[in-house]
Amino acid sequence: MVTRRTLLAAALACPAICTVAGSAGRRLPPEARGLWAAGVTVAYGTRSLVVGHDAEAALLRDLASRADAAALTVSAVLRRAVRPLVLVPRTSAEAAALAGTGAVEGLAALASQGRVIVLPGAFARLTPVGRDVVLAHELTHVAAGTEGRPVWLREGFADYVGYLRSGLPTRVAAAELAAEARAGLLPSALPADADFAPGSPRLAQVYQEAWLACRLVATVYGEHALVDLYHRAAGQDLDHALEPLGLSVRALVTRWREYVRDELTGAKGNG
Ligand SMILES: [Zn+2]
Repeated sequence: MVTRRTLLAAALACPAICTVAGSAGRRLPPEARGLWAAGVTVAYGTRSLVVGHDAEAALLRDLASRADAAALTVSAVLRRAVRPLVLVPRTSAEAAALAGTGAVEGLAALASQGRVIVLPGAFARLTPVGRDVVLAHELTHVAAGTEGRPVWLREGFADYVGYLRSGLPTRVAAAELAAEARAGLLPSALPADADFAPGSPRLAQVYQEAWLACRLVATVYGEHALVDLYHRAAGQDLDHALEPLGLSVRALVTRWREYVRDELTGAKGNG
């Protein structure tokens, strides 16, 4: 009884963050070993593990709690447990090395090899809601996979989950696309993979188009249908993946155009 009580009290009193200094790495969890030679700090959430390189404890603690919330959302959508591993390198060069890519400039976070990598500079410039959206977005990439799908589907699906609990009005989250829609410009085709290239002139708009295409599927057919479509699309062309919904790409585009117009301009469609 005493032992049990002591254990319970110890568990409750355990600090939210355990900071591990030094390079020996013996007390580091396996996921944190071998990343950097020194200055490795760790924060444990209820579901997440955050590993930083010379990172401030407050940042790691904040990330752990946001990653926990993101994990709950992603788990609910994918219907399975998700345990985020978040890495916080010191510089963008370190982030690029972790991700095995040269192009991380301007990113707040990215998904790579089962991990979410946060770039502290850009991440700090996001609003609190923006941080949650970005973490849930990247965690969706990690948990659901990205291979084999058209880029609009993987980015739209990640934004669908990312914005799900954000509370942001559609016209705020899709402000750039809303401006086009109000000017009478509506998309006529789903965004091509190349439209998502960094520096692309309508980058904001194509993300918003992709988001609304996925949200349309979830709204009309249910969230499970969107998730199933996402899984099917990994191994099939889009027309085949859409077939169980009674849709073709062409039919989806027609409905999506109306949806974009209705959601962003307030014009009443057929519902
Ligand atoms: Zn993404």
